[in-house]
Amino acid sequence: MSCFAGIDIGSTAIKIALIDEDKKIIATKVTSTGSHFRKNSVDALHGLLAENGLTTDDLAYMVSTGYGRKLLKEADESVSEITANAIGALEAGREYGEIKTIINIGGQDTKAIQIDDSGTVTNFAMNDKCAAGTGKFLDVTARNLEIELEELGDYHFNLKTAPLPINSTCVVFAESEIIGLLADGHGKEEIVAGIHYSIAKRTIRLAKRIGLDGLVYFDGGPALNKGLVASMEDELGKKLVIPEYPQLTTALGASVLACEAYLDEMEMA
Ligand code: ADP
Repeated sequence: MSCFAGIDIGSTAIKIALIDEDKKIIATKVTSTGSHFRKNSVDALHGLLAENGLTTDDLAYMVSTGYGRKLLKEADESVSEITANAIGALEAGREYGEIKTIINIGGQDTKAIQIDDSGTVTNFAMNDKCAAGTGKFLDVTARNLEIELEELGDYHFNLKTAPLPINSTCVVFAESEIIGLLADGHGKEEIVAGIHYSIAKRTIRLAKRIGLDGLVYFDGGPALNKGLVASMEDELGKKLVIPEYPQLTTALGASVLACEAYLDEMEMA
């Protein structure tokens, strides 16, 4: 069986999508990036293939993307995460209508990408200098409040008062601010919602630089957090498109590019 892999080596998580020639998803995996980018990526890929009764002989073409993409020498090709994200959003977003803008929040950066109807990137804006509006901010919040990342959404919706304004624009200072707010007797719900609105405000401000017309697709791991999604929709004033597997969009895009590259090669042969 021929399959195609897209492997997104992010700052925080490695995401893999395996698809068949019809671009149907065979299997996916999300695992921690850790410090050994290449080894962890290869191990995760081999594990995913084995779990699905496949071997590297079944792998017709592999495209790597993401922060650590250049380290994966086993890949046939590497593409930027902006290109792969655009193609992935086009593929996963098709059922919702024509996606015009993608907002991606990753572990350490935030991007807004404008695409045309073929998935070509027409404009983008990126913040990779500061972790304040990124998944890192959520990780630090969960750790300091001693709750699981997956619980942030529930805390947000259990809020009975207004979200607390969070003033720090830096993760390091925000950590001290969170501890100070706890010491002042504030509830975890107010703090969590305050952090969500702080990230949402920054992200929508960034995305406004490229425009937010039409359907806006939100992806990356933080899009799994329903409290953050609600805050973003509040700031934006409209609903966002959240795909079924938001953290896997970029890996899916890379797998689609792998499939297309292979079919092009076959046609030329
Ligand atoms: P990168 O590509 O930079 O590694 P990801 O798109 O994988 O980033 O997103 C990683 C971030 O996603 C983590 O820092 C975390 O904040 C968030 N995240 C991951 N899983 C969940 C989850 N189940 N619920 C809420 N947030 C999550």
